[in-house]
Amino acid sequence: METLYERALKVIPPVGMARYTKLGVVKGIGSYIYTDDGRKILDFVMGIGANNVGHNHPLVVEAARKQMENLIHGGHNVVYYESYVALAEKLTEAVGDSMIYFSNSGSEANDGAIKLAKCATERPAIISFMGAFHGRTMGAMALTASNSAYRKHYEGMIPSIYFAHYPDLYHSVVPVADGKCPDFYMDQFKTIFDTIVDPYSVAGIIMEPEQGEGGYIVPPKEFVQFMRDLCDTYGIMLIFDEVQCGNGRTGKLYCQEHFGVKPDIFSTAKGIGAGFPLSAVFGKKDVMEKWLPGAHGGTFGGNPVACAAGLVSLQILLGGAIDNAAAMGQYFKGQLEELQKKYPVIGDVRGLGLMLAIELVKDNKVPDTALTSRIIETALEKGLLLINCGTYHNAIRFIPPCTVCKEEIDEAMTILDSAFSECLS
Ligand code: PMP
Repeated sequence: METLYERALKVIPPVGMARYTKLGVVKGIGSYIYTDDGRKILDFVMGIGANNVGHNHPLVVEAARKQMENLIHGGHNVVYYESYVALAEKLTEAVGDSMIYFSNSGSEANDGAIKLAKCATERPAIISFMGAFHGRTMGAMALTASNSAYRKHYEGMIPSIYFAHYPDLYHSVVPVADGKCPDFYMDQFKTIFDTIVDPYSVAGIIMEPEQGEGGYIVPPKEFVQFMRDLCDTYGIMLIFDEVQCGNGRTGKLYCQEHFGVKPDIFSTAKGIGAGFPLSAVFGKKDVMEKWLPGAHGGTFGGNPVACAAGLVSLQILLGGAIDNAAAMGQYFKGQLEELQKKYPVIGDVRGLGLMLAIELVKDNKVPDTALTSRIIETALEKGLLLINCGTYHNAIRFIPPCTVCKEEIDEAMTILDSAFSECLS
């Protein structure tokens, strides 16, 4: 019998083929997936962080089934329905001063976020960061700078988007003293405002509070706080992209909590819907009130089943899974630091909560992309699913569900250690 991969080859174009594996998956339970060739694999990718409560959580299945019996599609452009309003109520209660607009994907939420910033400020320009990934639609792609391959065939981006250096202290463009954020990263905005774009033309500055595709890079707290002050000074909307780092992933409901900084607008997706396509734009109330009927919309955003799943997912997260992510993240990071002592090719161990990565380098921090691929392939042969991140694909990311247990992390570490040992021998 043909595998799912072999069948896909004939009908799915290259762009739609899985980029990371040839696995055909038939079932998922908790932290594990089951393949069409009978394998059980520990899934530390979760569809790229798209489900933070584990595959097919029984409460999610039950809530989705119940919702489907009543209403599968409502259309938030047309009518109101319970799961849509209830999820917005629960999320705004958890986040504080905010309103929410639901859509389907991270890219769509980011397009919405910049449209909202433009609407609310009546200004044209947006500043994004080098290393950022905000998505694949023409709007979100124009904000993206984690790999030129994403932009290559589509030049002629939407105009008035500018890029600043993200404070990646491991690969800092200027020397770093005592682990402190070099002034350069703050001062660059004076240069940007003096030379390229007037600050009063800037609608928003969009940043990931932990960069995702760019390599799981955590900015220094003082930098994020500086961004808040900078935006306040010039009336710029501070926009966080919490698509990957939100929804419990970093051991807080939203990653912004690590920095004590509230953005004016933030987007989220992936883990918000327990695997269903759901995303959201959050905005402070006074900002959201400026987004008037007809200025944005969509047919499927905030689908009733996705919102019902999102409600249960939020309950599970707030009911203990976020605390588990914090505790397990700390344990996991400690284990990865031990592994680094054993294998010096691991140049850096980083990340918050369960959004962790190790970066593999040769001398002088030169990316070791080939070794990274070999380790990931070997780990998969041994039953652990991992994927890379970073511009040079030389970081391995770890994004198990927030419900992961110590035994599963130990299982992953045993496989990882054995993959390193095999690939380096
Ligand atoms: N923003 C970030 C930070 C992401 O990690 C991603 C997806 N990797 C996106 C936006 C795009 O989300 P989607 O694929 O759902 O459009």
